[in-house]
Amino acid sequence: MHCGEPGDEAIHQDGPDPFSSISERVFTGSAMPLIDIHTHLESFARRGELPVVLQRAREAGLEAMITIGTDTGDWPLYRDLAREHAGFVHYAVGLHPCGVDEDWEKSFSQIEGYWQAAPAFSPASPTAVRIPAPPLPAALGEVGLDRFHLPKDDAARAVQIFQWQRDAFAAGLALAKQRNCPVVVHSRGAFRECVEMIDASGINWARVVFHCFTEGPDEIAELMRRGGFGSFTGVITYKNADAVRAAAKAQGLERLMIETDAPYLTPMPHRGKPNEPAYMRHTAEYCARLFGVSLDELAAITTANAKRFFGLGETPDTLNTPKH
Ligand SMILES: [Zn+2]
Ligand SMILES: [Zn+2]
Repeated sequence: MHCGEPGDEAIHQDGPDPFSSISERVFTGSAMPLIDIHTHLESFARRGELPVVLQRAREAGLEAMITIGTDTGDWPLYRDLAREHAGFVHYAVGLHPCGVDEDWEKSFSQIEGYWQAAPAFSPASPTAVRIPAPPLPAALGEVGLDRFHLPKDDAARAVQIFQWQRDAFAAGLALAKQRNCPVVVHSRGAFRECVEMIDASGINWARVVFHCFTEGPDEIAELMRRGGFGSFTGVITYKNADAVRAAAKAQGLERLMIETDAPYLTPMPHRGKPNEPAYMRHTAEYCARLFGVSLDELAAITTANAKRFFGLGETPDTLNTPKH
């Protein structure tokens, strides 16, 4: 059974319960809420598919998702989506390493504005209308290092780009330290450098997640020693992903978080088709079998972990309440 719109379960509860708050009535009982902690909604929005994609995500049991920024081009869209779908869509702002070039500082300088809940200029104008404060990002990300997509035919250029990636990542880590916000790390072919740079930044490792973790058990042990997390995509369902499964087991169910990274990395049995948040259900079902627990238990644990890590406990009504 699917869980439909938030609040549906309230209709089916036994007897009236006039004292329960709205937040307590949402997603109780047999609902199996999941949170996709890493998706990219931009391509769906561009093609006008967002309403059906979000509807399918709800029908697949998703309680929430985090749409992850990659560049200045998607940040305003994601903030708007988080406002329109408060509590269901959250967002993060970051510079994906594959988009980092010589102009990265210009782009990066816009990031901090997303944490300013109030407009930069708020003169007490008599004509001012009350505009709800824009939602704050749930995290900084994605940021990190990616060796895989560096140019293969121009070694000097590759070295230069990788240096820009390092500079941009260092700037991101410094901002995350200042904000004490969660950080979503993209690491491909650069695990060692990412760990070293995070160590050097002095940020709280408990707020760091390496998304789409595709290293092995030794690497996840390094994250765990520091208090960090790895989160898992549909890659974990792939036949040749034994090391990834071993890493997930080594980290343990009690620290597990899952994601789609849609529209990429579609889980089995839809591998080959474009991914979307609804397909996270397949990754969740696979992980439930991997850990030998029920889907409900898997969902309860991963959802609690995601809420704790990203601070998603707020109800839609309180999302824009200033945090202390
Ligand atoms: Zn990534
Ligand atoms: Zn991503």
